[in-house]
Amino acid sequence: MTPVAGLLALAFDNRFTRELPADPITGSARRQIRGALYSRVSPTPVAAPELLAYAVEVAELIGLSERDCASDAFVQVFSGNRVLAGMDPHATCYGGHQFGNWAGQLGDGRAINLGEVIGPRGRQTLQLKGAGPTPYARTADGLAVLRSSVREFLCSEAMHHLGVPTTRALSLALTGESVLRDILYDGHPAPEPGAVVCRVAPSFTRFGHFQMLAARGETDLLRAFLDHTMAADFSHLLDGAAANDGDLPLAWFTEVCEYTALMVAHWMRVGFVHGVMNTDNMSVLGLTIDYGPYGWLEDYDPNWTPNTTDAAGRRYRFAHQPAVAQWNLLQLANAIHPLVGEAAPLEQALNDFEASYMTHWRAMMGAKLGFASLAEADAGLLDELDAILQLTETDMTLFYRALADLSPDALDGGAAPVDPLMPAYYRPEEVAGERRERINAWLRAYLMRTRQEGRPAEERRASMNAANPKYVLRNYLAQLAIDKAQAGDASLIHELQDVLRNPYAEQPGKERFAEKRPDWARTRVGCSQLSCSS
Ligand code: AMP
Ligand code: MG
Repeated sequence: MTPVAGLLALAFDNRFTRELPADPITGSARRQIRGALYSRVSPTPVAAPELLAYAVEVAELIGLSERDCASDAFVQVFSGNRVLAGMDPHATCYGGHQFGNWAGQLGDGRAINLGEVIGPRGRQTLQLKGAGPTPYARTADGLAVLRSSVREFLCSEAMHHLGVPTTRALSLALTGESVLRDILYDGHPAPEPGAVVCRVAPSFTRFGHFQMLAARGETDLLRAFLDHTMAADFSHLLDGAAANDGDLPLAWFTEVCEYTALMVAHWMRVGFVHGVMNTDNMSVLGLTIDYGPYGWLEDYDPNWTPNTTDAAGRRYRFAHQPAVAQWNLLQLANAIHPLVGEAAPLEQALNDFEASYMTHWRAMMGAKLGFASLAEADAGLLDELDAILQLTETDMTLFYRALADLSPDALDGGAAPVDPLMPAYYRPEEVAGERRERINAWLRAYLMRTRQEGRPAEERRASMNAANPKYVLRNYLAQLAIDKAQAGDASLIHELQDVLRNPYAEQPGKERFAEKRPDWARTRVGCSQLSCSS
């Protein structure tokens, strides 16, 4: 048997379960709880665990080596078959607004926190997703399928390497058991391979944890939980000025607004649509969390949502994400209002969210376009950019990447600036007539602005390419990796994981992963439309 020294040496310090009250009942019987933040529950053992993938960078975060990941103990632990000494498995209780409506108690229905590890770079909570039912599983089975687990594993890591704040993914394991799912919710359930992902984050605290305590009217516990959260994840606030004047809850809320603004600005920069921005899926640390029916913009469409459940209202469409984030923050503000006492400062913080988001967004748009900063006078250029990207289906990622290769020298020759951008268009024949003229006019205005900026060409290109990824987890690429994995071959998961480690680099030989969506993927389920079934 391979040595497991690294796993056995993991140093657990379970502050959450030590400091906060537990539900007195253990086990997975479904129930509503009161006066507690979590229930102790063990992962359900699985028949034949098999490790499909792991992220060595995440292993290193918690002090494990590549060798540890290859051990039998690793797959046993991170599929839920073995609980290590020092772990304290539990599921946490939270509520949330789903699609704008208060849903009451939700909680970790299929997520089990194993414990908190003190790693070489600080504290990390290890969480299994799909390791069996908890008291919060309601009518569901507590399990997850390979399909959604591949998507969660790959996207968590892709987002991290893109520089987007996110929970991480340590491992992806098959359980050797099958799980019934009705993908299209049309009465055709079918067995799919079961899987477990181990997620890793400094904490998995959601807006909904605070909302749940507020909804139960448990103000003392709400205060205790906020104190815990600040000490665990916002300790810098405790040393600051707010520590003296009793404004800590407000200072904390302001910080959550700031983290959230930055996270959403990054989503908009890379073209990510979360798909289910319910308040139970919002991390107080501003980490992207709960990868379900998310998607990547292929053709730039501000109204696009990948989530079929949201097809009618499009509440969580790409362009609406900043406004939804603010609405979600308002729900968090309502929850902690009893601790702040007055509404006005919370309202002020919510208004400041807008300004903060705009500051981040402007900085990122400036970087995407290769400008040191955006000026007031650029407003027209930005508006018209939004318009020309929608004149005909335009691949957002390819467009920005190609823009970096355009030189202001193109203004002096006779060639139309749009010619080198043609690979970004899904229907090149539509780039004609007035449409073509309008795109060319924008490109000329942009190049004129670029010329005024006067940056050396290489510097401009490098800085644009650092803001505009070449490789993102295109919806169809994830689906291809899933198809292959379901046929017993995990190699495309590994290859994508590797390419997405360096999303801004050119990577000769990997260009096929930077191509626009092929036509077969336009309407295929899993590529352009995702259901919540997972
Ligand atoms: P989501 O919108 O997917 O983040 O999930 C909403 C709620 O449903 C959360 O409380 C989840 O834990 C729970 N949930 C989703 N799928 C399952 C499942 N298969 N078993 C148990 N609970 C689930
Ligand atoms: Mg969720």
